Amino acid sequence: MAAHMTPEEFRRAGYAVVDWIADYWSTLGERPVTSQDPPGTVAAALPPTAPERGEPVDAVLADLDALVTPGLTHWQHPGFFGYFPANTSGPSVLGDMVSAALGVQGMLWATGPACTELETVMLDWLAELMDLPGRFRSTGAGGGVIQDSASSATLVATLAALHRASKGRWRADGLDRRYRAYTSTQGHSSIEKAARVAGLGAEGVRVVEVDPASQAMDPTALRAAIEADLAAGDVPAIVVATVGTTSTTAVDPLPEIGEICAEYGVWLHVDAAYAGAAAVCPELRWAHAGLERADSYCFDPHKWLLTGFDCDAFWVADRAELVEALTVMPEYLRNAASESGAVIDYRDWQVPLGRRFRALKLWFVLRWYGAEGLRAHIRSGVALADRFAARVAGDERFELAAAYPFSLVCFRLVAGDEASAELLSRVNATGRVHLTHTRVAGRYALRLAVGSPSTTEAHVDEAWQLLSSAADELLAP
Ligand SMILES: *Cc1c(COP(=O)(O)O)cnc(C)c1O
Repeated sequence: MAAHMTPEEFRRAGYAVVDWIADYWSTLGERPVTSQDPPGTVAAALPPTAPERGEPVDAVLADLDALVTPGLTHWQHPGFFGYFPANTSGPSVLGDMVSAALGVQGMLWATGPACTELETVMLDWLAELMDLPGRFRSTGAGGGVIQDSASSATLVATLAALHRASKGRWRADGLDRRYRAYTSTQGHSSIEKAARVAGLGAEGVRVVEVDPASQAMDPTALRAAIEADLAAGDVPAIVVATVGTTSTTAVDPLPEIGEICAEYGVWLHVDAAYAGAAAVCPELRWAHAGLERADSYCFDPHKWLLTGFDCDAFWVADRAELVEALTVMPEYLRNAASESGAVIDYRDWQVPLGRRFRALKLWFVLRWYGAEGLRAHIRSGVALADRFAARVAGDERFELAAAYPFSLVCFRLVAGDEASAELLSRVNATGRVHLTHTRVAGRYALRLAVGSPSTTEAHVDEAWQLLSSAADELLAP
């Protein structure tokens, strides 16, 4: 039987793994961004059963190179422009390594006090760094927590909103009425999923029209939807507004939406999963105007703020409402610290009980980069997107499909949907870049999202060159 890995064996194997990671990062740009292998390739290359005898880490590293990396989409590749970025960084990986090594289970303050307290302080640091409204700070009635994803943040916000709207009856009796959630046609799919999980049903989500030019929620349509539901005897529970929609990074008008929510006592959750990170830069904080009316807010440091997945930062204005909605206290978790009321038990701020020490990677990132390093990263993404958009705007074969306030550019060929879709598949087939697509007001558009820390002007220019020459071929008579 292979013995447990000793600390000395760990040290040697650990150095080898760190070397492997550094080599991977430094050769990333030479790899194809996506795998061109057909489905089943990786699975077929793996043995059908686990090994009977233990193997050295070197053997696993060899197979990482031989079997795994060729079958990957390389999200940290400088030519990765798909979806939104999911960037990571050296300090984030190191922080995660420490978290993995400590193996702390931070469900209660008592099960790892520093795990809870570092997280609370990190979320306060972030709130300060982004100039979020004071009501989200833990020094008042609010506070922040790390969720695994923006989807979980929306679910938790929905549950707290139901708790408020049902005056607590939801907890014991379930839904006694028809409760409604509202988002725009551009709201993320996780909002509908949260409504389903929470028992509202997908039909419980009212999809509000957007202004066709800005793709942002039309507040008049929101008010009409809420009033129609009230007239029918239904209960408006939550509005999910978006800062930086997934399709085009449209920004919903928070001041008007917040006013409507306040008027009807509806919970306002603001989903800024990707674009929220931009608020580390003062010149990009306009997108958060009106946020002081929100009951909850989230963004994903794991998208554009150099912290590896999973790390969603979620704040509430009134932590008591959230805790009341979610807390369940079995005998085996009772402890003096929780009963004193003087500590935070983050298990009451999320759906699962268990949680790992994710604040560590955030701490490593915030200390390594400092506020100025984070601002430089965001500004670089915005500048690269501007540079690319200028190429698109300056070429009469192309047109911009939406505004580009952050680091996402939506564009298309003037020749139409079919040509644009063909263009996307041709440039992606080069293996040098990876872009994705969307539809804007029904019309096909390519999306180029900048965010990898390794992406430079040269990579964006190469993307444009590839698009331009593919367009030459495609449009040739
Ligand atoms: C990416 C995205 C989400 C989902 O993010 P996860 O953290 O992966 O759940 C939600 N909302 C918006 C606006 C997004 O762009």
